[in-house]
Amino acid sequence: MYDIFQRRVILRGTVRTQTGLHIGTGRGTGMGGSDLPVIKDFNGRPFIPGSSFKGVLRSGIEAFLRSVPGTGGELACEVSGQSCVSNELKKKLMNNKDPDSELWVASCQVCRLFGSSWIASKVSVSDMSVADDFFRPEWIAVRDGVVIERETETASTAKGLKYDFEAVPAQTRFVFELLVENPEDYQLGLILLGLDFFNKGMSLLGGKTSRGLGRVEIAIDSVEEHTFDSIMKGMAPAPVQEVTTSSPSDVLPVNPEEFLLRFVVPGKTYDEHALVQALQQEGWTKDKVRGEGYANFRDLFQKMVKKGLLSFSDNRYSSVRPPEPDTPEVAGRDLPPDLQEKLITWRGALYDFLDKEIKGGSAVV
Ligand SMILES: [Zn+2]
Repeated sequence: MYDIFQRRVILRGTVRTQTGLHIGTGRGTGMGGSDLPVIKDFNGRPFIPGSSFKGVLRSGIEAFLRSVPGTGGELACEVSGQSCVSNELKKKLMNNKDPDSELWVASCQVCRLFGSSWIASKVSVSDMSVADDFFRPEWIAVRDGVVIERETETASTAKGLKYDFEAVPAQTRFVFELLVENPEDYQLGLILLGLDFFNKGMSLLGGKTSRGLGRVEIAIDSVEEHTFDSIMKGMAPAPVQEVTTSSPSDVLPVNPEEFLLRFVVPGKTYDEHALVQALQQEGWTKDKVRGEGYANFRDLFQKMVKKGLLSFSDNRYSSVRPPEPDTPEVAGRDLPPDLQEKLITWRGALYDFLDKEIKGGSAVV
């Protein structure tokens, strides 16, 4: 079914944590670190494993498709329950002339998109690294957890029953990239819907979600679509372009003002303490700030207000940039019209597909 290249679609953007995020490593360290560390790359920076994200995306879409009226839950099988292709059916189909096609036909919509043990996945999600160069691993917060005693359902504070866990702070941005191989438009619509579930707080990432962790917001910045024609076009000889590289020092904040401009998220307010803490974590001590010509931290903040770089009211500082929308639709960012149109087409195709299913008949295969 997948041995012919038809179309490849890549969605790119960012995942921004709205609350703390705990994606564990599945093992404690016991080396003076936290009991439950978050997963990190070799630079000590947290990342979101693509497989974790894909799993949550899949369950959201699965739950939705199982609830489509009139379909008896047949659009999506239950991973934990009975799968769309039973072992017996699998065995039977394997003896047929074209087992791949028959397995595909027998598979539910979720397995066709996300794969199963008998069918390849169309979707892959890259591991997501932190998008901001100024992120510091020290910002990973250590929180207290208390073991809940099952019998009394009360928190036990007895010695040894407390533990701590790490969480990536809110407003950390990660680089998002999702690739879909040979998708139908309605399948892309399903993926957009699954991404919306994250933005609406229905799909949560990682652990400790009962403590309010795991909310993220996804914004798509670009959509790349490759077809046979576009690849042919890309092969045509083109003038060689000079590659310019930028060294990390080009993008790191060079003074406390620049750091604060990047740190302060539009639409949020900060008290003085929060800004001081952020600066200190960045290495901007009182002395270093003085070395930049400010009397103290407050003097720095007030000078930025005077310069029109920060706003100040009710004893709180905020960005002068306009806030980003509160609950943005995945497709709602300032995309170029042609991309905007693409996303509308995919959502429309999903609507038509579901409409047909509801009105009876698995007309679309
Ligand atoms: Zn299935």
